[in-house]
Amino acid sequence: MCNSNSLSPVWRELKRLQSTDELFEILSPQSFKWNIGKGTQILFWYDIWVGVSKLRDQFPALFRLSGKKNEHIADMVIFSENGLMWWDIGILFPLNEYEDLQYQMLMSLLRNFKVDLYKEDEVQWTHSLEKVSSVAEGVRVMVKSHIDFEFDRVKVVWNKLVPSKISTFHWLAIQGGIPVKEVLSYRNCLNNSSDDKCAWCLDHIESIDHILLHYSWSHKVWTGLFKWWNIFWVVPSNVLEFSVDWSNGMGIKAEKVWKLIGSATFWAIWLARNEVIFNGSYTCWAVIVSRIKLKVFQWLVNAKVCESFQLYVWSDHPWLLLQSPSFDMF
Ligand SMILES: [Zn+2]
Repeated sequence: MCNSNSLSPVWRELKRLQSTDELFEILSPQSFKWNIGKGTQILFWYDIWVGVSKLRDQFPALFRLSGKKNEHIADMVIFSENGLMWWDIGILFPLNEYEDLQYQMLMSLLRNFKVDLYKEDEVQWTHSLEKVSSVAEGVRVMVKSHIDFEFDRVKVVWNKLVPSKISTFHWLAIQGGIPVKEVLSYRNCLNNSSDDKCAWCLDHIESIDHILLHYSWSHKVWTGLFKWWNIFWVVPSNVLEFSVDWSNGMGIKAEKVWKLIGSATFWAIWLARNEVIFNGSYTCWAVIVSRIKLKVFQWLVNAKVCESFQLYVWSDHPWLLLQSPSFDMF
C-alpha cells in the first residue's frame, strides 16, 4: 500500500501487528480511514477516505464508468496555474439521470477535500474518529465496537418519482452539505463571520437542522403534514435520523409515500428560507403545507400511482391512497 518509512509510528506498529491472524481479522479496512495530504498513497476508489466505505461501493455506477480505476487521489486532481484544484475522475459524459445524480453527489462530497502538497497522507480510526495514541487503545476500541458503518445514504433519498435536483438537496442535507451560515462559517466562506444567525428568528445559529426541522415555522410545517396523516410525531434531533425512519409504525406503504413527502418538504422549506434571505418575503407555513401536498400528488400522478384518485381526497384523506389498486405499482 505504501512505503514504510513514510508511515506514522502508530501505523507502522499496526502494520507489524497485522501479520498475526487475530489482529488481521480485527484490522479490517473498515476500521480506519485516510486523511488526505498529498494524496499519493491513497487509492481513490479502493481506500476508505470519504465517509465510511470505499467510493467504489458508494458510487458503483460512476466506478463502472471511470477510466481511472486504480489511480491514487493525486492522479485524480488537476491544479490550475492560480492554484485552484478540481477533480477529474476519468468519467466521459453524457451521463444518464441516475449517473448524473451520483456524479453531483460525489462532487459535492469531494468539495470538502483538498489535496495538500505539503502534507503526508495519514491514517485515522473511524471508530473514535480521533487519532489513537497507542496501538493498544486502537485495538481496544475496535474490539469493543462492532458497529456496522456500512450505510448507503443514497438509498435513503433516492426515489425515481422525485426530481434529481430535490433528491440531491435531501442527500446534501443528510451529509451536512447545505450552504447554511453555520456550514459557510465553518469553511470560512461567510463574508461577515458574526452574521451566522438564522434569518427567520435572528436568534439561533443557522444550522441545517435548525432550518429544516427545529425552527418554530419549520416545526409547524412538519406538524401540519403529520396531522394531515393523523400521525403523532416527536421532533427528531437531526435530518439523517429523521430520514432513515419516517415510519414510526405507520407501515411500509405509508413510509413509501413519506419518503416523497420528506424530500418535498425539505426542498420547500429551503426555498422558503431563500425567499426570506434574498427577497425578504415570508410565506405562511400553511401555504407551504398545501404546496407540498400538491407537489407530491403531481409526482404520484406522473407515475400513474394515483389513477382515479382525486386531489381533494388526497388533501383530506391521504391514507385512502394506500388502498387504491394503482398504488401497488408504486
Ligand atoms: Zn431560526
